[in-house]
Amino acid sequence: MVSPGELRLISELTEEGAEFEPEITDDGAVSYPSVGLILDDSDGDPGEVLDRFAARGVLHDEFVSKVYVCPECDAEGMQYTSVCPACESAHAIEMAVFEHACGYVGPVSDFEGEGEDGYSCPNCEMALQSEDLDGERRYVCQECAEVFDTPDHRLWCRDCLYMFEPGEAIERALYRYSLTDEGEQWLDRHQTARRVIAETLQERRFETEIDTTVTDESGETHPVHVLAEDVLLGERRIVSIDETPDAEGVGAFRELAASVDAHPIVVTTTGTVEAGVAERAEAADLTVLTYQPDGTLDSNYEVIEDTSHHRSVFQRLTAAVDVPVWKGQ
Ligand SMILES: [Zn+2]
Ligand SMILES: [Zn+2]
Ligand SMILES: [Zn+2]
Repeated sequence: MVSPGELRLISELTEEGAEFEPEITDDGAVSYPSVGLILDDSDGDPGEVLDRFAARGVLHDEFVSKVYVCPECDAEGMQYTSVCPACESAHAIEMAVFEHACGYVGPVSDFEGEGEDGYSCPNCEMALQSEDLDGERRYVCQECAEVFDTPDHRLWCRDCLYMFEPGEAIERALYRYSLTDEGEQWLDRHQTARRVIAETLQERRFETEIDTTVTDESGETHPVHVLAEDVLLGERRIVSIDETPDAEGVGAFRELAASVDAHPIVVTTTGTVEAGVAERAEAADLTVLTYQPDGTLDSNYEVIEDTSHHRSVFQRLTAAVDVPVWKGQ
């Protein structure tokens, strides 16, 4: 099913250069605030809706950047820290370190104290000159006193404070979305299909509303593409639009229609429906129409197998073709 919210969303991108930009919220989450405002609650997560339309070729997804998600609590926006390789404390600081001939290694400040020049080794107590102390910059752990050149890398979560190796983080890519040429045609086809079915119902003396909501008995509102009412005859129609209606979507739409005392009309924009839909259409409490490329509506449609099944058959076929090529190399 294409929802009214989804159609509104895609139509927002018709202006030259129009894009949906990802934003990072204060708590590090990825969001598309403008998309959330356009969609209905029933459309679900804005990011998932955009992703789905990109997979269909309606939207182009351009990579922006990546964020890292906490493997413990799913929060986003990890902090980097270097840590001591011995005790994993982040409190390891780079400073001037001196190694005395006796083997003692420590920050130059450890050598301050006794001696003529004010310096001595805290281990062997040998007096030292300041020029002896040619310290080099190394890390000194303030927790366990380990001295080292290369710290380990960690990320830590600001929410649950869990610290972990960078490889453990869940990586999430951010994309911005724009309309493709194919998407423009897709939008035009679906918007025109909706206008044509509304006009057809108007010709039959229905009063129609496009992109509106219906309220069921429990007071819950549901978005619909077209609501048509004949007040005189007390008749209502609601319209759903889809590329290839499937049994599950149509079943839910029929239930909605029953709950608002309306007859359901399903318009396919490809002229195809899945097998389960055809069975329901035979039962006469459902009308299925095809929106033709010439801009007219037709009551004929083609029945195809489950589209998800088709996809898996296609993948198996691809795999079967790939194997001999790979083996031959
Ligand atoms: Zn966390
Ligand atoms: Zn340490
Ligand atoms: Zn010493």
